[in-house]
Amino acid sequence: MHVSNDSSVSLLEKIDCHIQEFVSPQQYRTWFQTLKIVDVTDEEIVLSVSNDFLREWICHYYVDVMGKVIGRVVGDSKKFTIVSESNSSEPRDTREVPLSCPATVQAPTDAARGEGASSAVHEPAPKTMNPRTAAGGNEVGQSLANPFSNLNFKYLFDKFIVGRSNELAYAASLAVADAPARSYNPLFIHGSVGLGKTHLLQAICHRRLQTHPDTKVLYLSCETFINQFISAIEKGNIHHFRNKYRHIDILLIDDIYLIANKERTQEEFFHTFNSLYNAGKQIVLSSDSPPSEIPTLEDRLVSRFKWGLVVQIESPNFETRYAILRAKARAMGHEVPDDVLTFLAENVDTNIRELEGAITKVIGFSVLTKAPLDCSLAKLAMRDVIKKPITYITIDDIVRAVTKKCNVKLSDLQSRKRNHSITLPRQICMYIAKKKTALSLQEIGGFFGGRDHTTVIYAYDKINKEISKNEAITNIVNDILSQLGD
Ligand code: ADP
Ligand code: MG
Repeated sequence: MHVSNDSSVSLLEKIDCHIQEFVSPQQYRTWFQTLKIVDVTDEEIVLSVSNDFLREWICHYYVDVMGKVIGRVVGDSKKFTIVSESNSSEPRDTREVPLSCPATVQAPTDAARGEGASSAVHEPAPKTMNPRTAAGGNEVGQSLANPFSNLNFKYLFDKFIVGRSNELAYAASLAVADAPARSYNPLFIHGSVGLGKTHLLQAICHRRLQTHPDTKVLYLSCETFINQFISAIEKGNIHHFRNKYRHIDILLIDDIYLIANKERTQEEFFHTFNSLYNAGKQIVLSSDSPPSEIPTLEDRLVSRFKWGLVVQIESPNFETRYAILRAKARAMGHEVPDDVLTFLAENVDTNIRELEGAITKVIGFSVLTKAPLDCSLAKLAMRDVIKKPITYITIDDIVRAVTKKCNVKLSDLQSRKRNHSITLPRQICMYIAKKKTALSLQEIGGFFGGRDHTTVIYAYDKINKEISKNEAITNIVNDILSQLGD
């Protein structure tokens, strides 16, 4: 049922009024000025804004605000949908899903609303309406017209778990988003596949666009850059191609190593790099290896890539893997027991994409089979995935068995206490953990009260020696191992 003009105007006025309670005048002008009511039914209210960009932005950053406002004005029982008036949106890059916000959003319930102010209310106020729509109709122009066309809303700084392996890359990315072309130019992030390079590059874009919507940010894959260059050559409009890049404030090229063996593209990128760099614009690059290890990369590019900051993302350690698994599970609405998280974090240690796959699989398995999400289910779900022999034994299992057998407390094992009745069980734990789990020496030492890897090596060697000559210790160790099902 369409609402009559009069009632929709007064309804809209009410909605506008409430929105302004939550956002600054600037934010209101920037994002909500074109808001209209399209339809109101018993179940739903459909609103529109003038273009896809506004719709995506509101869906992502102001969904809580809209939920509160709609709840107040038309009641909690109505869902709301925001559509774009210009539904002639340009074709999207289908490789990345650019919008994670559902088009239809249920207005939050009272309980959800009680959780305090939403982050959207506190976001830094965008300065002015973004004039990107003025950009031309070429591919880069289109990406600038809707900078989200290549971006995935999953890849935000606040969804990035920081650990020792990635903290430098994280901090540098944040600095670049907040003060581009200041300290780290270019920023060159390298690391193996699935460790978060794309996530960080896109997080820079989101943050910059959120705090400074006027910045012309362009994120693209190296492949896209190469393809655009080749097509410009074919069409004979290379000048046009070059001009397009002159207007960018932050250029981020993902997987730049793919430029290896592409001599002419390297030549062209050299010019792009120089013109942006000389104009004080920020460049961010990602790669699977450091600049000097990219085969056939021209020396002049190698040296330029090292001008700013070259930073590596390493494989995450146990604690970070654990934290990532827990965060991903929570994001999926599940609280997964500690021992399941420990089991997965110990066995899936290749990269973060694999961790995501593992937790999704285990949760999916439990939902589908309606079985409780415990360690045996996780082991069942992962049996085909984990290539190396599965470590069924986790550090928790070991500690449980040892504390029972030796009659000590976990807190003692993790304490600084050095009396023999505690040192021996602690050393036995370390010995079995090194032998039977995939944990590193640091990780094992860390678990037992932040001891370092030399302590673990010492414990291992000591128990190893005792086993051949001390029958009592051998029996304890064998007993524990058999309890662990070894
Ligand atoms: P890369 O580009 O290095 O191959 P991605 O950025 O595509 O890796 O990351 C792979 C997946 O892992 C993505 O879904 C990403 O969101 C996730 N991811 C990577 N690092 C982290 C992290 N530190 N915290 C949370 N998720 C992460
Ligand atoms: Mg990537």
